[in-house]
Amino acid sequence: MFSGPSGAGKGTVLKEALPILGNIVYSVSCTTRKPRHDDADGETYFFMREEDFKEMGLKNMFLESAEVHGNMYGTRRDIVEAELEKGIDVLLEIDVQGAIQVKNKMKEAVLIFIRPSSNEELERRLRSRGTETEEEIRLRIKNAKKELASADKYDHIIINDSLKDTVSRFIEIVEKYRRESK
Ligand code: 5GP
Repeated sequence: MFSGPSGAGKGTVLKEALPILGNIVYSVSCTTRKPRHDDADGETYFFMREEDFKEMGLKNMFLESAEVHGNMYGTRRDIVEAELEKGIDVLLEIDVQGAIQVKNKMKEAVLIFIRPSSNEELERRLRSRGTETEEEIRLRIKNAKKELASADKYDHIIINDSLKDTVSRFIEIVEKYRRESK
């Protein structure tokens, strides 16, 4: 599982690392958040109404779910189980609350946390992507500080100073677990 505050560079790292690794799929989460201009339904998220999300929760269809930045997010259990059954690794890009829920259910899950080198750098990145309003940026900065405080729950922490080094480190970690589970 891959976590880190908004603006840590998760998306960019995954875009580069997943094709190199192969045999790994990105799990598309469900969310009640409104789509942003760069979102595509079914690709970045499955966007849904709160009532539908709640109903899925009641039917136990989520492997984990949590409220993040005022919206609900959840991982579909059926998709993850189907991929694992085929022997394909599944990458969950989820927050720390969700990561802990998954680790409690699946001991073999690996938790990787990515963080920027400083709070200033995080704020700079958040502002430069220009996808959130000022209010949303403030909320994300506040949550980022909370999330950074939970980094010690993770199996690995990567400081994203250079994209190239972060991608290599991420690949190295996944390959290590693949070798060990053979
Ligand atoms: P964003 O709305 O910016 O795409 O994501 C906001 C936060 O929600 C990020 O920290 C991301 O990791 C987290 N998130 C995305 N999908 C899920 C999910 O399925 N479960 C949980 N627990 N968090 C998620």
